[in-house]
Amino acid sequence: MDYHFKCILCGTEYDPNDVRYVCPKHGDEGILDTIYDYKKIAAKTSPGKISASRDFSIWRYADLLPLDDAEKSAPPLQVGWTPLYHAKRLGEKIGLSNLYLKDDGRNPTASFKDRASAVVVAKARELGVEIITTASTGNAGAALAGLCAAAQMPAVIFVPETAPQAKIAQLLIFGSRVMLVKGNYDQAFDLCLAASKEFGWYCRNTGYNPYTVEGKKTASFEICEQLSLPLLSGGRAGDGGWRAPDRIFISVGDGNIISGLWKGLRDLAALGWIDQMPKLMGIQAEGSAACHNAWRAGTEMIEAVNAVTVADSISADIPRDGVRAVRAVRETGGAYLTVSDDEILAAIPELARSAAVFSEPAGATAYAGLKKAVAAGMVKSNETIVCLITGNGLKDVASAMKVAGEGTRIEPTLEAVRRVMG
Ligand SMILES: *Cc1c(COP(=O)(O)O)cnc(C)c1O
Ligand SMILES: [Zn+2]
Repeated sequence: MDYHFKCILCGTEYDPNDVRYVCPKHGDEGILDTIYDYKKIAAKTSPGKISASRDFSIWRYADLLPLDDAEKSAPPLQVGWTPLYHAKRLGEKIGLSNLYLKDDGRNPTASFKDRASAVVVAKARELGVEIITTASTGNAGAALAGLCAAAQMPAVIFVPETAPQAKIAQLLIFGSRVMLVKGNYDQAFDLCLAASKEFGWYCRNTGYNPYTVEGKKTASFEICEQLSLPLLSGGRAGDGGWRAPDRIFISVGDGNIISGLWKGLRDLAALGWIDQMPKLMGIQAEGSAACHNAWRAGTEMIEAVNAVTVADSISADIPRDGVRAVRAVRETGGAYLTVSDDEILAAIPELARSAAVFSEPAGATAYAGLKKAVAAGMVKSNETIVCLITGNGLKDVASAMKVAGEGTRIEPTLEAVRRVMG
């Protein structure tokens, strides 16, 4: 194995053969970073070599992932290499000339979480475990259920019984064992953790399993590689090979996605493949803003909140990856912003009508935050901005219908159409 773990709190290093999840000295808060030997990676691969790959999935980055033999262990489902659109019209509306949308709703189970579940399932196959489990607000579970169906492995998923119907349908249809917890995400999380310890199931829980971040970091690889492609950059690659944006806007619940993006960027910076570190902009719902609060207070001590928001995917009382999520923003010189549920909902039709991307509330949250940052003068008009759309709108049709408007009921006659149009 060409990597090891390092506790984010005390810096103790571990061999992945000895420690599976968190730092034994810190319990569940001792999240482990995966540390690579970058010299070895640089000897094996390069931006040019990767960009010549015909594998249009996260596995084009296999040399930067913590797997022994990705070719053998990767589940057969196409994850990643989602589109990065230059959203010219949407950008013009808010005064930005270089706004890009990364549409991660285009993953196989329609959310960003597929990136994490793909790497965790691949690792589970290498470890030879039999059953995988996770707690989820819905998307992480759907992603695990889908990837487990691809790998023909059994999964046990714990979700709040209030999760959107479409997400529960996904869990059931992929054949996982679905536990509808009479409680919130945080209670589902603790129950899943206890069950995994009791029954020996391999646990994918966010902010507990070290490999979710390693899967999620592939989004930064894609952003920097895609920005350097001729179609988007006119051939303006950076000195290192790929091109990093000035800022990335990311919605934050547990803080694992923003931590993953930061990890990917740190990998690329360590390899010298990008020549600037983007500022990471974390966007939270006003009703679920624990990371924002800690960042504002200048501390890493995350205080629990009573999370309430329409954006179910970012509703978290205790962000499980909060410390890293605060560091990601602080150390890149970014900022946290909060947005109201009304602002989140209003962002859904705006994205759809100006850029043709249909997002679930948590995905549109990043764009709602971008608008706020522009209005506050935090962003210059020519900056290269990437807004990460983390989940597809069909995941939560009930929320979309609140802001979609109404169809027109008519008699089945041309006369009726004429009357309506006139
Ligand atoms: C999980 C999720 C998020 C937030 O990710 P965290 O790691 O919890 O911060 C945002 N949007 C969508 C659609 C998600 O599923
Ligand atoms: Zn530790």
